[in-house]
Amino acid sequence: MSPSLPVVALLLVSHSRALAEATEALLRQVTGDSVRIAVAAGAGEGGEELGTDATRIAATLSQLAPHAVLVLLDLGSAVLSAQMALEFLPQEDRQRVALCPAPFVEGAMAGALAAQAGLSLPEVAREAQNALRGKQNDLPGADSDAVRESVMRVDVGMERRCYELSDPAGLHLRPAAELVRVAGEAGMDFWVGRSAVATPLVAGKSLSGLLALELRQGEALCVYSNEALAPDLLTRLDGLFGNPAEALPEVRPQGVVPGFALGLVADARLRLEDLLPVAEAATPDGAERLRRAITVVASRAQEEDILGAQRALLVDPRLQEKLDAEFRRGQGPAHAWAGAVEELAQEIEQLHEPLLRARAADWRDLGRQVLGELLGDPERRTVAEARPSILLVDDLLPSMAANMDPAQVLGVIDRQGAPNSHAAILLRGAGIPYVINVRAPELRAGIEVAMDGATGAVIVAPQKAQVDAIRARYTRSETLALPEEFAGELALADGSHVEFWANVASPAEAQEARRLGARGIGLLRTEFLYLDRWQSPNEEEQMQHVQKILAPMSGRRCVVRLLDAGADKPLPFLRLRREENPALGLRGIRALLACPDFLQIHIRAILRAGHGQDIALMAPMVSQVQEIIELRRVLASCHSALLEQQIDHAWPVALGIMAEVPAMLLEPGSFRGLVDFVSVGTNDLTQYVFAADRGDERLQNLGGAGSSAVLGLIQGLLQGLDVPVSVCGEAAGNPQLALGLVEHGIRRLSMSPRSFAGVWQALRVA
Ligand code: PEP
Ligand code: MG
Repeated sequence: MSPSLPVVALLLVSHSRALAEATEALLRQVTGDSVRIAVAAGAGEGGEELGTDATRIAATLSQLAPHAVLVLLDLGSAVLSAQMALEFLPQEDRQRVALCPAPFVEGAMAGALAAQAGLSLPEVAREAQNALRGKQNDLPGADSDAVRESVMRVDVGMERRCYELSDPAGLHLRPAAELVRVAGEAGMDFWVGRSAVATPLVAGKSLSGLLALELRQGEALCVYSNEALAPDLLTRLDGLFGNPAEALPEVRPQGVVPGFALGLVADARLRLEDLLPVAEAATPDGAERLRRAITVVASRAQEEDILGAQRALLVDPRLQEKLDAEFRRGQGPAHAWAGAVEELAQEIEQLHEPLLRARAADWRDLGRQVLGELLGDPERRTVAEARPSILLVDDLLPSMAANMDPAQVLGVIDRQGAPNSHAAILLRGAGIPYVINVRAPELRAGIEVAMDGATGAVIVAPQKAQVDAIRARYTRSETLALPEEFAGELALADGSHVEFWANVASPAEAQEARRLGARGIGLLRTEFLYLDRWQSPNEEEQMQHVQKILAPMSGRRCVVRLLDAGADKPLPFLRLRREENPALGLRGIRALLACPDFLQIHIRAILRAGHGQDIALMAPMVSQVQEIIELRRVLASCHSALLEQQIDHAWPVALGIMAEVPAMLLEPGSFRGLVDFVSVGTNDLTQYVFAADRGDERLQNLGGAGSSAVLGLIQGLLQGLDVPVSVCGEAAGNPQLALGLVEHGIRRLSMSPRSFAGVWQALRVA
């Protein structure tokens, strides 16, 4: 055997010589001469007739010695001939031959690539047999068992390198084949998948698996390994896919919501398989027990009324179809449930739309809840229900953050995340310590961790002295509390006053605002009330929600922002179509004006809730005067209708806008006479000024709210408009940035009330 050729050769056995030779030509297009491929096809002397010939097959097998040989066969009698040929070989020679039931063309291609990668005969045979995966994935009704087999998941300790696929055809045959070759020569195992943590992974050596991932242009292809990726492997991967997508600034752990937490880690990404009993009998009452568990979880979701999307999933007919199929296969209820749920979650993960893909987490969370119910073990219930713990997540979604109970979630550690993401804002409001960009491999469910949400320190198995040191920091900082006489403002040396307003999204936060002496509510985010809702909240429900938040602040001005849907706060009930670039899409006021029926109900609900209170309305994402003119028209018509119906409501109300789209700040004068006040949203303003996604941890070094670009725009706004201007972006609650804003002339800051003390302190000593 030539030492440069891989161990496994291929033998193509076909009724038609032309077919076998054409197949060989196809394989050589991809593998060149790097794999030994032989043909034993046709019947008759020269093989011109259609048929197969055992003697010819046996002779070719002998010529291929000492290679191990994978034999691909086309139709029925080819199998008989090949079996007969084996009989002709000496016993010891038969060991090195595998007759493969794979489809002829696909199997030959996958087998050739696996052979090229230097895999062993059983591995090459398995690759060939899995060769239909791609088609099975693409064609409805296909049996996906083959796909599920050999798929694994990302583990928290894995090393990873990601590339953005630039090839317009995505990960197609050629690059996939190259990757298989690299995997074969790497000297270490690695797996490939998308960047999401719940992504299924396939072996780098598996062509069929790689193709079944269906990675498209623009998507991240990530290589994962349990050990450090070797430098020469990285060089080859870089050569194949260009510079890694993560070559941008190194991300470091960062404290985002201050606070101390000490507790056991609960892994929000725990896999369903990890919760299953090893053996489970398929008893006749299995389906009924499962149905009862589902009913309990569904009614719990109903009571809590926060998991609308999950309730909808429980009655999804496709779930029932998959469960029926699992029971038919003889599975017990827990395995049937986990199998069906995992399959649905994986299907969703294959979708193009990242936000929809994230819904796979909902399936798995439901999966955990139902398994907990079924198996009667509270430890197996959803992480949110487990005993108080520190939650480990991967890129926290606002919808998940919105459902966190501070009594249960002591702190959150995120592998990704960004300080101004909406998830961070929600945790800030709830006072749940939050640290982002933590990739420590040793973090696992069940271990004890101490975390400091200010410094970003996460200490695994902490010593008492370390815990005491963090605790002491917070005890000291509590002594920096607001003075007792604090009444929502601070006098500066020049005689002017800085006002402290509150950003809130719930009655609890409004109570906190009152307790801490906020001047008023500078930003009530209404969209946070409805994240994940598939059914539109009606007027009555909206009115009650807003009323409950306004009540604790009675007598003080409350700025209610109209629903800011879109980007990372999709509100499914608005039924907006999928967008390629949602942060630049139908967001905020644009979405509201596109849904006029909802807008009317929304405004009516807020006006009614504001009856007897001092409210103002604020529109998000305004970029053009036409938007505010149109909004004023709708507002006036809502008022007329309420008047006519003799329904109590707040009137007149001031109407303001968010200043967060650069176009608005560049020409503030055009809004003169149309708006009663403006509030600067530094979170979005910064992302649009620097074209840097506010949720992307790799881009947080670009500019920022304290940059001259952003501060210059704010200054221009102050000069161009003669109405009150406040800041309600996260910069207002950051002591250093707040100082910069005040130096630039801002006198009204709206922030999470928990940030009052820090900002007050910074301004007082400045
Ligand atoms: C902002 O963009 O700064 C803002 C306050 O709005 P949100 O964070 O809700 O987008
Ligand atoms: Mg905004």
